[in-house]
Amino acid sequence: MRLARRAAGISPSPTLSIDAQAKKMKAQGIQVINFSAGEPDFDTPEHIKEAAVEALKAGFTKYTPVPGTEELRKAVADRLRQDRGVDYEPADIVVSCGAKHSLYNALQVCCQEGDEVILIAPYWVSYYEQVKLAGAEPVVVQTTEETGFKLTAAALKGALTPHSRLLILNSPCNPTGAVYRREELEDLAKIIREHDLLVISDEIYASLIYDDLTHTSIASLGSEIKERTILIDGVSKAYAMTGWRIGYAAAPRPIAKAMADLQSHSTSNPTSIAQKAAVAALTGSQDPVEKMRREFNKRRDRLLASLRNLPGISCNCPGGAFYLFPNVSGLFGRKFRGKVLSSATDIASVLLEHFQVAVVPGIAFGNDNYLRLSYATSMEQIEAGLARLGDFVKQLD
Ligand SMILES: *Cc1c(COP(=O)(O)O)cnc(C)c1O
Repeated sequence: MRLARRAAGISPSPTLSIDAQAKKMKAQGIQVINFSAGEPDFDTPEHIKEAAVEALKAGFTKYTPVPGTEELRKAVADRLRQDRGVDYEPADIVVSCGAKHSLYNALQVCCQEGDEVILIAPYWVSYYEQVKLAGAEPVVVQTTEETGFKLTAAALKGALTPHSRLLILNSPCNPTGAVYRREELEDLAKIIREHDLLVISDEIYASLIYDDLTHTSIASLGSEIKERTILIDGVSKAYAMTGWRIGYAAAPRPIAKAMADLQSHSTSNPTSIAQKAAVAALTGSQDPVEKMRREFNKRRDRLLASLRNLPGISCNCPGGAFYLFPNVSGLFGRKFRGKVLSSATDIASVLLEHFQVAVVPGIAFGNDNYLRLSYATSMEQIEAGLARLGDFVKQLD
């Protein structure tokens, strides 16, 4: 079968496929501890579900405006003003079928053949594929534990060429949990302005942030940088609404219009009743978000403390999101039942096959010295998983 070049070049999402494999093993009755999930394990709060049920009963089941209802776009703009200190009109907001879709639309309308898009590794898997789908060239800048996995101004400068078009920022970051401080963003913003770049700021984990850290949106650093920023967010992570598929972009008007026009020929509006649920999420009580955040915080602390006690494993303290990103290169060269472990991929497959623990190897994010462990799972599962990880390390020669 001849497929288009575009399709033949796509790699499937490795995080989704590991999660699918773990779920399949579970369905077969195997007691898998799943640290690979990329979604909150909490249920969607009741008042949000109620809003969708009401919308359904009221017959709110037809097409809506392509970029989302005025009501929802206003709710998004209000929340961005209140939580991030950035001023957008509803007309600057485009609601899509998940933040992933918002990112896709943004890259499609901003980038083309010959453009370079700077990705900060370790990066979220879909950025890389979406940049390629837009015909542009991903330029990967590696970061290290020493800088807390954050892009420095010097590293950004080093990656620039006359073809540089756009930078993708993700704070808090999936997979590293890195959170950029205001001054760090100011340094980056200066270069972005000087070199006439655009920036996509993926802020999907903005409300899941720990310790004394706070979230700063790069768009809030002044009108010059706001005019170059496409801010991406959604309800998936903050409100445990991954299945509802509502994400949004706040962008300079011409970009927002182009994204809506593109969407008008692909998905049209996101699901009408999910939009009503998203309005309830954004305008209702934010207490459920804080409750989930606190629980994630406890789990992070528990998992981090124990991981750091395992010989051969070190781990940065993530400031946000719900992932740990331990360095397992200290185990490379050790043997499990005669087989030498030489990458995080090797370790992840031994863990899944022999210990029924699902984790994502860092290769999925551009660096195979690390594993990604999601703590979007219960404390009981975390305890059980830690015991198995301890066993694994003990059994190494
Ligand atoms: C989960 C995630 C998204 C996409 O979320 P949607 O469910 O599509 O709204 C985007 N960016 C990052 C970094 C994520 O982890």
